[in-house]
Amino acid sequence: MNVLEKRIVKDGIVKEGNVLKVDSFLNHQMDIKLFDEMGREFKKRFAGKPINKILTIEASGIGIACVVAQHFDVPVVFAKKSKSINLEGEMYVAEVESFTHKCKNNVIVAQKFLSPEDHVLIIDDFLANGCALQGLIQIVQSAGATVEGIGIAVEKGFQSGGRIIRNLGIQLESLAIVESMDAKTGEIIFREQQ
Ligand code: 5GP
Repeated sequence: MNVLEKRIVKDGIVKEGNVLKVDSFLNHQMDIKLFDEMGREFKKRFAGKPINKILTIEASGIGIACVVAQHFDVPVVFAKKSKSINLEGEMYVAEVESFTHKCKNNVIVAQKFLSPEDHVLIIDDFLANGCALQGLIQIVQSAGATVEGIGIAVEKGFQSGGRIIRNLGIQLESLAIVESMDAKTGEIIFREQQ
């Protein structure tokens, strides 16, 4: 087990409805040393890629993305969630359905922060059905920029997102892939990774 997997076993809580709660170290209270380890691992896994920008989505992707960005020495842009259609200025927009909140949001990025010269690493905390990532990919494509890869902390491998994104031919690296989890026993099984 890697560091993140061990921490999930120690402090993660399996909830009914296929939700894994990791708010004591990942997306509410945040363990920055753990994020730093994750950043080092992403830097290794995406070695040689000409990444010059990290893109994430508010709110829980931002903390991880900022620490990861220090390893790549690049700026972070985060997509904002907006219910309003009255978007000021020049924006790239995608519609994203939230797995946890069961609602639809527009996610927006100002056009001035993404351009065709950009080689983007997308970072997020969770991958479930892949809606958030598909929205971010759409935004990068609207800008004419390149998705160099996607780095995820926790992928729920029993949901469809991982398969959908890998089928697009994008390098997707998830540091922990949950193969199954049981809300009654709290047991979490991870997919073996090299
Ligand atoms: P997706 O768009 O892939 O279905 O869901 C991704 C988003 O939903 C993530 O950014 C994350 O915020 C949230 N999410 C999905 N599943 C879980 C989960 O099991 N636990 C937590 N804490 N967040 C989740």
